[in-house]
Amino acid sequence: MSADPGIVVIGASLAGATAAQALRLDHGYDGPITLVGDEPHLPYQRPALSKGYLLGTTAPGDLDVLKPQFYADQDITLALGAPATALDLDVRRVRLADGTELPFTQVLIATGARPRRLQVPGADLDGVRYLRNRDDSEHLATALRAAGDVVVIGAGWLGSELAAASRTFGNRTTVIDPLPTPLYHVLGDRIGGLVARRHHDHGVNLLLGDGVEAILGTRSVEAIQTITGRTIPADLVIVGVGAIPNTELAQAAGLRVDGGILTDEHLRTSHPAAVAAGDVARHQHARYLNPVRIEHWDNAVLHGLAAATTLLGRPTTIDHVPYFFSTQYGSTLEYLGLPTIWDRIITRGEHAGPGFTAFWLDRGIPVAALTIDNRGAAEHLRALIATAHPADPRQLADPDTPLPDLLPDAQCRQPDVTMMKRVLSAAPAVRR
Ligand SMILES: Cc1cc2nc3c(=O)[nH]c(=O)nc-3n(C[C@H](O)[C@H](O)[C@H](O)COP(=O)(O)OP(=O)(O)OC[C@H]3O[C@@H](n4cnc5c(N)ncnc54)[C@H](O)[C@@H]3O)c2cc1C
Repeated sequence: MSADPGIVVIGASLAGATAAQALRLDHGYDGPITLVGDEPHLPYQRPALSKGYLLGTTAPGDLDVLKPQFYADQDITLALGAPATALDLDVRRVRLADGTELPFTQVLIATGARPRRLQVPGADLDGVRYLRNRDDSEHLATALRAAGDVVVIGAGWLGSELAAASRTFGNRTTVIDPLPTPLYHVLGDRIGGLVARRHHDHGVNLLLGDGVEAILGTRSVEAIQTITGRTIPADLVIVGVGAIPNTELAQAAGLRVDGGILTDEHLRTSHPAAVAAGDVARHQHARYLNPVRIEHWDNAVLHGLAAATTLLGRPTTIDHVPYFFSTQYGSTLEYLGLPTIWDRIITRGEHAGPGFTAFWLDRGIPVAALTIDNRGAAEHLRALIATAHPADPRQLADPDTPLPDLLPDAQCRQPDVTMMKRVLSAAPAVRR
């Protein structure tokens, strides 16, 4: 038996399970691996929780990150149902809520994020709900089935998907957001306006430029009082106002934390025994000036893969162009890049129709793109943004110019996409 206590992964979800899989299968690591999770479930995919799983079209088994037998087959120990409550990095030991003590040589912290809570009077009434985990999604599906008047607070990606789901259940649906359009911070007003139109077209009452003053009701929610004085009837309120990273364990262990666990571009934290990955990590990204924390499915996968190499002392640099997908009203929206600075937007194709693409440019260089129902496009858009070269605006706007032709030279048309392809090829299965 190995004297090496091995690797403990705290957070048995997408980033953590991906790292464990990569350690065993990609790198042949044969030391002990323990996955610690506070939830009772095997690692599962979250995107379907606001899509197919919520609507009842995705089966529970389709949520699995890895086949259930994988863990036993690969000798990965699961410690589920009890959170890690204390982490001693110098002694190299983690304690769980059930009293278990686990020694380690290295620890991967992949504790994810939790919903930001609404801080208004009435926020604790029955009928005010949040969505982060599988149990939340199951309870929300029951509530949506029984509801009539649903108010979604927040018109970000999650709020937009929840509004679409609520309409699918046939509920009268209102979305409230203080900003001028849905996804305003990401898309700006012009393209955000197209997302607004999609909501209108599907019968959603969009209250933009307004906020929640209070949630009204005696025991359970009855209405929303807005800042501008409107009263909106509601028997179900779903809050989607962002997430905050689960950094408490890391902070108490003395790691540097600032809006996420701070890491370098290889996911190394401020302690040599600890690596952080996924939604909880705010990492120094090779493409961006400031450290970024990215709450995207593909970021968690890429972080899991990169964390495995860093844990084995062969660090990979994180420099991927971020990628997010969303399914709303039966359409798939894919967004690449990060909402940074832009001075121009160029569009191609029918507004908000299949194949429609918007490019955000900074001094002629595409820095982000959104595409709708455009199978296979994300890979090319990602490569285009990755080149960080100016692109011809006429070609960007021309639907007859194939996306690969937008890349500046032949070499760029064959980008090194091995890791990216692996991620994108898995994405369709979790987009539903
Ligand atoms: C409803 C929903 C829909 C989404 N839809 C999309 C989408 O359409 N497209 C997209 O790109 N991304 C989407 N995402 C984001 C994506 O799912 C996340 O980025 C991804 O799950 C992050 O993975 P992670 O492993 O870093 O963290 P998580 O998936 O949050 O997992 C962290 C795990 O650690 C556990 N944990 C926390 N503290 C402890 C502790 N002390 N001890 C033990 N365990 C602990 C948590 O309970 C959790 O199980 C969605 C997320 C949600 C919630």
